[in-house]
Amino acid sequence: MYNGIGASAGIGIGSVVIVKEPNLDYQRVTIKDASAEESRFQAALNATIAKTQAMAEDMRKRVGEKEAEILEGHMLLLMDPEMTGQIVNSIKENLMNAEAAVEQTCNMYRDMFASLDDEMFQQRATDVNDIKTRLLKDLLGVEEVDLGNLPENTILVAEDLTPSMTASLNAENVAGILTEIGGRTSHSAILARALEIPAVLSIPDITNKVAGGDKVVLDGDKGVVYVNPDDSVVAEYTEKRRVFLEEKAALQKFVGKPTETADGHRVELCANIGKPEDAKKVVECDGEGIGLFRTEFLFMDRPQVPTEDEQFDAYKTVAETLGADKPVIIRTLDVGGDKEIPYLNLPKEENPFLGYRAVRLCLNREEDIYRPQLRALLRASAFGDIRIMVPMITCVDELRRVKQILSELMTELDAKEIPYNKDIKVGIMVETPASMIMADAFAAEADFFSIGTNDLTGYTMCADRGNPDVAYLYSAYNPAVIRSIERTIKLGKEGGAIVGMCGEAAADPLLAPLLLAFGMDEFSVSATSILTTRKVISLWTMEEAKAVAEKALTFVTEAEVKAYLESVAKK
Ligand code: PEP
Ligand code: MG
Repeated sequence: MYNGIGASAGIGIGSVVIVKEPNLDYQRVTIKDASAEESRFQAALNATIAKTQAMAEDMRKRVGEKEAEILEGHMLLLMDPEMTGQIVNSIKENLMNAEAAVEQTCNMYRDMFASLDDEMFQQRATDVNDIKTRLLKDLLGVEEVDLGNLPENTILVAEDLTPSMTASLNAENVAGILTEIGGRTSHSAILARALEIPAVLSIPDITNKVAGGDKVVLDGDKGVVYVNPDDSVVAEYTEKRRVFLEEKAALQKFVGKPTETADGHRVELCANIGKPEDAKKVVECDGEGIGLFRTEFLFMDRPQVPTEDEQFDAYKTVAETLGADKPVIIRTLDVGGDKEIPYLNLPKEENPFLGYRAVRLCLNREEDIYRPQLRALLRASAFGDIRIMVPMITCVDELRRVKQILSELMTELDAKEIPYNKDIKVGIMVETPASMIMADAFAAEADFFSIGTNDLTGYTMCADRGNPDVAYLYSAYNPAVIRSIERTIKLGKEGGAIVGMCGEAAADPLLAPLLLAFGMDEFSVSATSILTTRKVISLWTMEEAKAVAEKALTFVTEAEVKAYLESVAKK
C-alpha cells in the first residue's frame, strides 16, 4: 500500500498505464552506409508527417480550428525541402547518423528563428523544437501513450498531470490518476476534480513502483493506493465506490435550491473554471455564478499570447453561458510560480513563488499582455455581469495602477463607441499576507475580495503547496491562516467590499461553519463541489456556526483546530 495526498474524491479501480517523458538519448556515430541512413531518416520523416496529420485532424474535431492550424504549420516545416535537404546533406556528406543530423539541423534553425526579434519567428523556434522531438522519437522507436485512446478503466500514472495532457485525455476511460508531485491545490488536482476523476498525488517514485497493466485500487479522498490487492480489498472498495456514487446521486435534490443555512442565512455559491467550455458544467451543476475564471489556461498550451479578440470571445462566451444576471469574476493573467508559459520567456528565478508573477508581470508587460486582456474584458462586459479580479496583489499602488489603465481603456472605448459596462466591479484576490494585513485599505478601493487560500496558506506558512516535505505545514487549519481569513472578511466587509473565497478551502466542509460565522458572502468551488457545498451549508444554523467559530479561534495549533472541527462536523 502507498500513501499520497487524496486530491480528487472517489474510488478508482483499474489497470495501470504509465505516461513518462520519453528518453531521447542516442549515440553520435560516424556511419558507413549513407544511403541506408538516409532511408532510415525518410521513413521516420514519413511517419512523423503521418502522425502530425492525424493529430491535426483529431485536434480540429476535438479542440478547434486554431489549435489544428498550429500542427498544420508543423507539417509545412516537416515538408520544407530546405530543412530536410540539410539533414540529408549532413548524413551524406558528413556521415552523421540520422539522429545527430536531425538534432544539429533543427537546432540551427531553432537558434536562427529565436534570434529574430519577432513574435512569429519566436514561435517558429518553438515549432522546430517540437518537430525535432517528434522526429527523434520516430528515429529511436520511442512509443508514446496515446492519451486520446486509453483502454477502459485506466489508472493513469505520471510524474505530473499537465494541462496539455488533460486536453487530449479521453477522461471517460480514466478510472483514477496517480502522480509523483502535486498537492490538493496544485493545478493537477484542480484538473482531476474538474474531470471528476479520483486522484492521489505526491506518491514518491510511483512511476517506477508500478508496472503497466498492474491492477490498482485507490481512494482519492483518503489518499491510499493498493497495487495488485487481493480480492477482499477489491470487494471492499467496489462497495465503497457504490456508496460514493449513491451519495453523489443523492445530491441532486439540492439542484434549484437556494444556498442558505438551516435558519435561512443566504450566501452566494459560485464556481471556479479554467476554460470557457467549463462554464456549461457550472450551469449544469446549478452554480450561481463564476467566482474565479483562471485565465492563465487560455494562455497555456499554445504558441503565443491569445489575441484580444480571442480573449474577448472566450470571456463573452462565459458571460453568455451564465446569463446576464449571474456574476462572472474573471481573474487577469496569473502566471509565474507553478504556472509556466514557455513562450513568455520568463527568466529562471531562484524563488519563483516570490518573484515575477501575476500582476507584477502584467504591469511590466502592459502593452503586449495586460492592455489587450483588460480591453477584451471591458468589451465582453457588455454581454453579462463580468467583474475583473487582480491576483497576487501586495500593494495598494498595484490596484491603483490597474484601475488607472482601465480608466484609460474606457476613454479609448468611449471614443470608438464600443459598448462596455461603465460600472464594472474591480476586485482583488487576497492571497498574500500583505493584502490581508492591509485589508482595510484595500476594502476602500476594491469592490470585492476573493480570498485565495491556496496561496494565502503557502505564503502565511512559508510552505510550497506542491512540496511533500512541507505538506504538514501547508494546511488552512493553521490558526495563523484561520485568523487571516477572519481578519480579511471582517475588514473587507467593514470597508464595504463583498468578500468571497475561491481557494480550495471554500469547499472544505470542516471550514464551512467558520466561513459562515465570519460573514463570508460568497463561496467559489469547483463545479463538482457545488452541490456538496450547498448541502453542507444547509446543515448549519448561524448560531451553531458562530459557537464553533468562537471555540475554533481559541486553539493555537493546527492539530487542535482540525480535531475540533472534525469532532463537530455535520454529515
Ligand atoms: C488561490 O491562490 O487560492 C487561488 C484560488 O489561485 P490559484 O490556485 O490559481 O493560485
Ligand atoms: Mg493564487
